[in-house]
Amino acid sequence: MKDASCPSSPAPLMAAWNTKSQVHLIVGSNPIAAARCAKSIEVGAKPIIIAPETDDMHFTLSEHISNGSAQWIRHEFQDKDLTTLGREEVDHVVDLVFVTLGSNNSLSSHISKLCRRLRIPVNVSDAPQLCSFTLLSTYSDGPLHIGITTSGRGCKLASRLRREIAAFLPQNLGTAIDRLGAVRRRLWEEDNAAGLGDTYDGEDDDTTAQKHTFNNLVTEGDVVAAKTRRVRWLSQICEYWPLRKLVSLTDADMDTILEAYSSGNGTANGTDGLNTPSRKGKIVLAGSGPGHPDLLTRATYNAIHNADLILADKLVPAPVLDLIPRRTEVHIARKFPGNADQAQEEFLQMGLAALNQGRQVLRLKQGDPYLYGRGAEEFEFFRAEGYSPVVLPGITSAMSASLFADIPATHRGVSDQVLVCTGTGRKGAAPNPPTYVPTQTVVFLMALHRISALVESLTSFPAEEAGSQSRILWPKETPCAIVERASCPDQRVIRSTLEHVCLAFEEAGSRPPGLLVVGASCHVLHNPHGQRWVVEEGFHGLDELRSEVDAIGVSLDEKN
Ligand code: SAH
Repeated sequence: MKDASCPSSPAPLMAAWNTKSQVHLIVGSNPIAAARCAKSIEVGAKPIIIAPETDDMHFTLSEHISNGSAQWIRHEFQDKDLTTLGREEVDHVVDLVFVTLGSNNSLSSHISKLCRRLRIPVNVSDAPQLCSFTLLSTYSDGPLHIGITTSGRGCKLASRLRREIAAFLPQNLGTAIDRLGAVRRRLWEEDNAAGLGDTYDGEDDDTTAQKHTFNNLVTEGDVVAAKTRRVRWLSQICEYWPLRKLVSLTDADMDTILEAYSSGNGTANGTDGLNTPSRKGKIVLAGSGPGHPDLLTRATYNAIHNADLILADKLVPAPVLDLIPRRTEVHIARKFPGNADQAQEEFLQMGLAALNQGRQVLRLKQGDPYLYGRGAEEFEFFRAEGYSPVVLPGITSAMSASLFADIPATHRGVSDQVLVCTGTGRKGAAPNPPTYVPTQTVVFLMALHRISALVESLTSFPAEEAGSQSRILWPKETPCAIVERASCPDQRVIRSTLEHVCLAFEEAGSRPPGLLVVGASCHVLHNPHGQRWVVEEGFHGLDELRSEVDAIGVSLDEKN
């Protein structure tokens, strides 16, 4: 790349040197010398430290010296060190010199000049003008090495860039490169033995650009090309496959694919040869939020786009289902009252079958997967089968429905705690009603179909419980709200009190899914002021926000 800020200085030649067994001279004994010494050892060279005995030796240098990985010549630098301490096969000239004495030390420029005369690469710390080479900020993963330089303009920025590039790469990329390299070598050997080795020209050089013949169609008549289609396939996947997919290839995958490509017509099990059980399936268990598609997390959005099979709960909002790419297989749970367990079992088996085929499965649930969503049961099921799910949170209706109805779950001086509970227990039984806490906001999910019984149990004792005083009853004038289809365009909020809410719901009719919020917080922002109830229809907040964002996007685009 050209150095735009300084047109007169050309780009440096960046190269990967093989320094195995070289002799590197390190002049000095300070922390920089210690870092250079460690680098030399890392790259397989033999460091020799030149420093008088009087100098303080950095402790890691002392360690290297005492364990024999570095040698210490105890004297002040002498010119002859450059031509006497090196390897015999290069006439004892040292291979590389690091000077760590700083730019003000006259020895630094002296050594630099000598090195240049002798063609020895030299690096002087903090003195770019005295260097014939500089080190790069590097990232390594097995055989993969990435080096960055800002040409001395910003070391901090170089290391940040290195970190960000590294974070962008998938884990185990180094191992994948090793694996792909081994396969290439194997193919080369086999094809070479068959007299086809000359078809590999120039492919071992990392700098070679893609050849124009890369995508040529292999015709029946083209015998050489047909025989080398395995290599071509390898080049194709290295070029086109997402890195994540490359990294997930196993040795067994490779064997299967190569076997298929060597014997037949160039396709293995369809398109990419990966529909084999040898590839390990993956499962993501994700929450899709309360309704509006903008409330999906980016993680779940990505999972939707990466899945081969999506198993969605019945309550997953339609606008979220609309985001699923058309080619992706989707099933929606056939859950209805009395059939929930069977539908659940059917789904688990469907997911497992897909995983065993090596597919990516997304189990999409409404709201948050671990809040009344049987999420952990499914986790256990898949884990027991050897597929531990990745679990992604979702915005739960328990917290967001009240928010979209302008009910703050906590509010200073009004509510200091939140309780989330279900109105329906196991096998349809009524759960124990919570005791009255004046500063609590209670959210009841799955409760509206039995709202009368629930409110009754909150505000009065049944005959058999009377007198036991095991809990405190909720006063009838406690504020409450029914929030239905929160965050959807047909959202509805009924604000009332425990005394009137059942009648209000009866009159309004139900619009599932919905929940009941109880507590003083319900009237903080909207008080019905003496009315028995108030009904509010509709919700467009997020769409308005979106159109504003879109408008900003457009005006920015126009400016560009
Ligand atoms: N895992 C879900 C809850 C599943 S239980 C979550 O975290 O949100 C299903 C119940 O959630 C419904 O009976 C209803 O009480 C509530 N619910 C789900 N979506 C809702 C919505 N958009 N508005 C109001 N309540 C909702």
